[in-house]
Amino acid sequence: MMNDIDRLIEATRGFMDPEEGQRLHTIAQEASLLGPCLEIGSYCGKSALYIGSACRKTRSILFSIDHHRGSEEQQPGELYFDPGLIDPVTLEIDTLRHFRATLQAAGLEETVVPIVCRSEVAAKAWKTGLGMVFIDGSHAYESALLDYRLWSPHILSRGFLVFHDIFKDPAEGGLAPYRVYCEALESRLFDELPMTKTLGVLRRKAAIKHT
Ligand code: MG
Repeated sequence: MMNDIDRLIEATRGFMDPEEGQRLHTIAQEASLLGPCLEIGSYCGKSALYIGSACRKTRSILFSIDHHRGSEEQQPGELYFDPGLIDPVTLEIDTLRHFRATLQAAGLEETVVPIVCRSEVAAKAWKTGLGMVFIDGSHAYESALLDYRLWSPHILSRGFLVFHDIFKDPAEGGLAPYRVYCEALESRLFDELPMTKTLGVLRRKAAIKHT
């Protein structure tokens, strides 16, 4: 990866481990040859740097969905609250300006398309087949499950379904993403690939061609 992107990644707020990010980048390089990539949970753009820099190489697109008002655990008083993300006018969390600044600094504005709403709103009108869906939005079970159910049908044959924050032990973190990951596996539509730390990677089985 390019050095300027590496420096930006370091300087960008976020919760993605560098090894996980590198794996995302590698997957996105392959996935973006199949179709555009889509992530749920942009935050300040750290994962968009990893995925978007891969999409730029293949002249593909990353759609990045976030309402930008912070997830449950990022609200004031919660574990991941960051006072630097408060909008001085509305006094609410606003990560959109940080996300846009990241894209601008990385020169990714022609590659990454921000979609500013809850993911189920965008899903209502979605028709485009996707090379990769990366689920890293709300970690509440119902929301993560909805993200999986609404977006995974758009994954193309041999495309990727990737989850962040897969913890199999409740002592390490919330189990909701893992429960949804298991549901995806149980569908038998995906093959399981090796994980990288908390990054769970599934691949859509090849469509059976009827002749
Ligand atoms: Mg995450």
